[in-house]
Amino acid sequence: MNSKNEPESNVRASCPPGVDTFRAKQARCLRPIMRTGCSRSLWTAGFQPALWAADFQSALGLCPPGGQEARATFHTLALIVLLLLSTLLDAGSIQQTLNENLSRTRGAVLITNVHNGAVLGVIQPELFSKQYPPGSLIKVFTVIAYYKEHGDAFPVLSCPPTLSSDSQGCWDRNGHGKVGITDALAHSCNVYFRQIAHQLSPELFLSTLKEFELIDETTGYSDETIRKMMVGSTLEWSTDPTRILRAYCALFNNGYLYPLYAGASKYIKIEEEAKQIIHRGLIKSSEEGTSMEARRITGRPLLGKTGTSWLWNNGSVSWRNTQGWWIGLYPADKPEIAVLAFAPNGRGATDAAPLGASALSLLIKELY
Ligand SMILES: [Zn+2]
Repeated sequence: MNSKNEPESNVRASCPPGVDTFRAKQARCLRPIMRTGCSRSLWTAGFQPALWAADFQSALGLCPPGGQEARATFHTLALIVLLLLSTLLDAGSIQQTLNENLSRTRGAVLITNVHNGAVLGVIQPELFSKQYPPGSLIKVFTVIAYYKEHGDAFPVLSCPPTLSSDSQGCWDRNGHGKVGITDALAHSCNVYFRQIAHQLSPELFLSTLKEFELIDETTGYSDETIRKMMVGSTLEWSTDPTRILRAYCALFNNGYLYPLYAGASKYIKIEEEAKQIIHRGLIKSSEEGTSMEARRITGRPLLGKTGTSWLWNNGSVSWRNTQGWWIGLYPADKPEIAVLAFAPNGRGATDAAPLGASALSLLIKELY
């Protein structure tokens, strides 16, 4: 896997592919503070917190805050300031619409431009300031790592019905039957991923997470923990929700990992076939898998991936409750919008996906 660091000045000199087309649509909603130009526009500065934060820091001669948690908190502060600014400036009908329709939700939503991370709307940004176990959201990166080691030789495996007492059973006790990689992603099949995890090098998996900047430190994890990380079934590793969203965006924007936390941007080389495998799995997730509810609500084809983990709050675990995630990408053929939804005390398929889809529906009405 090749990757190279792009000096930020080079990246800013030319917009990532697709930005100009999408900006034309955004302009209808963001016209009050829209400016022409590339990344240095007020639009980008105001609506891309990472760049905004970087500029703010460099203007003051400040160093980026050290440590992953400090950077996450800083990033969330930027999101909150952004939210206040957008309200004060009456910046766009998207944020207004989200506020009017979703302000009473108990969950959180972040909507960004897939191509550059520009924030289009956010609800309860403070919930994104912590790190969380990503649950099954991680499975697409297990696919990337597996592809590096085995190419497209994904097996077809059996996911049988199991009793609730069976620790090796799937989350769906009815089982998923014969499962290939597309169905395994669509239904988030734990039995499938648990088995391919044993055919995947732990070091290669961690280096893939590092490449997507989902993890800083790759030492100190046992092989058993790393294999659980591949399935999304461990609480021993957490990451920032905004990093996960950015990594998903990189899968659909030619590998562009836009800057976050005042860091640099870079390009990741991702094999086209691996991207296609993930694309098929995430479309099927919305057609007949765990993201079905999102497609029903939006009424549009889209890409979706759910994640659920035990409730994790400030380092303590509630074994009786879960928290749910959903990442949605729209349009399905060439995604332009990325949605991250978080349902505390919920599940990915039944709580986070409907929440994210409700926000996406509002956005689709404004932009399409
Ligand atoms: Zn299964």
